[in-house]
Amino acid sequence: MATERTFSILKPDATKRNITGAVNAVIEKAGLRIVGQRRIQMSKAQAEKFYEIHKERPFFGELVEFMTSGPVVVQVLEGENAIARYREVMGATNPAQAAEGTIRKTFSESVGENTVHGSDSAENAKIEIAQFFQDSDIVG
Ligand code: ADP
Ligand code: MG
Repeated sequence: MATERTFSILKPDATKRNITGAVNAVIEKAGLRIVGQRRIQMSKAQAEKFYEIHKERPFFGELVEFMTSGPVVVQVLEGENAIARYREVMGATNPAQAAEGTIRKTFSESVGENTVHGSDSAENAKIEIAQFFQDSDIVG
């Protein structure tokens, strides 16, 4: 096992409901360390770039609208197997299918407004971290 970093977003439904601390508690309890964190208002251009891979999907417009509908918290998480571990802690994309105890099962209300993003590969983690963080803003 290796120490890895992954990119996380606490989405607008989390900031709107004032549950970012509750979500962070689940993250930390899972053994992941928040080594970078910033609250931002994502621009439309940033959201479109971030979710570029989904641009042909029917929900793309709705997704960009949601991600820019309020503040988000962008994070870098560090830990053993952090990328896979965080995906596990997040739960399935659709909260209705997410396992008990996962963030999405506990907090999310719909497949679109599903509280958290986490990178799905080491390659994407690197790209996503670089979109929102400078190295000097990550302190492990
Ligand atoms: P994940 O975030 O679990 O990696 P995807 O990469 O498949 O999921 O999708 C990216 C994001 O797009 C999801 O987290 C969710 O916010 C949104 N999304 C995915 N599928 C749908 C859908 N069927 N309807 C609306 N929004 C969706
Ligand atoms: Mg994804």
